[in-house]
Amino acid sequence: MTDWVEGRVIQMTHWNDKLFSLRVEADLEPYTAGQFTRLGLWLPDALGGEPQRVAHAYSFVNPPNVGYHEFYVVLIPDGRLTPYLQQLQVGDGLWLARQASGFLTLDELPVGRDLWMLSTGTAIGPFLSLLAEGRVFECFEQLVLAHGVRLGEELSYQPLLAELQLRWPGRLHYVPFVTREHWHSGLHGRIPDAIADGRFEAHVGLTLDPASSQVMLCGNPAMVKETLQVLQSRGLRKHLRREPGQISMENYW
Ligand code: NAP
Repeated sequence: MTDWVEGRVIQMTHWNDKLFSLRVEADLEPYTAGQFTRLGLWLPDALGGEPQRVAHAYSFVNPPNVGYHEFYVVLIPDGRLTPYLQQLQVGDGLWLARQASGFLTLDELPVGRDLWMLSTGTAIGPFLSLLAEGRVFECFEQLVLAHGVRLGEELSYQPLLAELQLRWPGRLHYVPFVTREHWHSGLHGRIPDAIADGRFEAHVGLTLDPASSQVMLCGNPAMVKETLQVLQSRGLRKHLRREPGQISMENYW
């Protein structure tokens, strides 16, 4: 049974007409960067019955212990929850699961030299939490953050990314992958294709190598599946607790 806690919105950031971030105050159990919880609202029943709590899992974007919890959300126009989440205002209440979950965390990763964090859409969130927390920079020499989006306007969190690059000079390779328009930075096209044809490694100047690389995948299930396949063809293996490998993954929906 989920233990629900009431929280309050303290900030709304609308990145565009679909993407937004909610910052919330709530008394949650301690959690680790990379984990997720559930956000819920009591909403009218579609069939006219009693209101129901509609909830969905969202990753923390903030590092732990900053006094607030932040979630990065994409509007699903015909979805049950996100049209209401998008309308929330500062001061509004919402429900959060007190206990976080998820294994896309630093403590689950084997050691390595380079850490590749590959995401699409709002699934960049857990990687922002890990990078902002900073322990990944103590455990890995080079960090690569790929973010696959359709349009450049979906490249949210630029101020945080600029701050991280300043804080860790030469250590964080941020690579936007914009698929549906030409963009002035990063690479055009999809992440697995740019691994397969070598453009991604050439762009960052690092090699995806089982001996030195750890890879975290989070996002669109098709991206996760195809990237897993191309990495496996390069000799990297799924990481399991009982059989350490190089690839840790989470489908975002
Ligand atoms: P997204 O699907 O996470 O990411 C879009 C990017 O992924 C595009 O650049 C797309 O490239 C690329 N992509 C798609 N398939 C790929 C593949 N096989 N390999 C590599 N890259 C691939 O985008 P989003 O806008 O955040 O989410 C879109 C939809 O996902 C939402 O409308 C919603 O339906 C669903 N979603 C659901 C949840 C949830 O919690 N239920 C959360 C997030 C998203 P192309 O332009 O080439 O297709």
